[in-house]
Amino acid sequence: MNYAEIKEYDIANGPGVRVSLFVSGCRNACPGCFNPETWDFDYGHTYTLETEDRILRMLLPDYIEGLTLLGGEPFEPENQAVLVGLLRKVRRIYPHKSIWCYTGYTYEKDLLSGGEKHTSFTDEMLSMIDVLVDGRFLLAEKDITLLYRGSRNQRILALRTKGREDGEPAGAEDAAGTGARDALKQIEEFARGDSRWKKE
Ligand code: SF4
Repeated sequence: MNYAEIKEYDIANGPGVRVSLFVSGCRNACPGCFNPETWDFDYGHTYTLETEDRILRMLLPDYIEGLTLLGGEPFEPENQAVLVGLLRKVRRIYPHKSIWCYTGYTYEKDLLSGGEKHTSFTDEMLSMIDVLVDGRFLLAEKDITLLYRGSRNQRILALRTKGREDGEPAGAEDAAGTGARDALKQIEEFARGDSRWKKE
């Protein structure tokens, strides 16, 4: 997988300050796309274990609310195969941080079992994503006043509540100190070649 960009402090694609990964590769070809260079699967930089380590470290500070995946298209099958590994690690290390994902595909039609973009990784990816913003960008529906989406047809779907039913704010564990230390220890273990630090 290639990626176009990583934003360390993104405040446009989900609540709070977020780390955003813009992956390369998208077959939706929406007219008026804000990022057409990312349609090319070879655009940008190669995504490596070092890239993943960098993202995990960027997520460490308490003020980082979570991770956002966008692109390009995170749900192109080639990208799912890599992103599922990243999401597993983010979920394991940062259970209280939120994961948002943007897709030009439609949740029910394309991503669920039987859908054109459903792969052996899709269900697991969806199980780890808190909020999915779905649907193609439609120029005729474009509305710059919308929060977190570009056109009115796109939906913001809450897929899971990730253990915040008790109303615990994001990052509460890390803010207490021990969470941050545990997270850093896990990242360092991965980076040292721990057996878990393998491409899935
Ligand atoms: S899904 Fe997103 S990246 Fe792909 S063409 Fe549409 S707006 Fe562009």
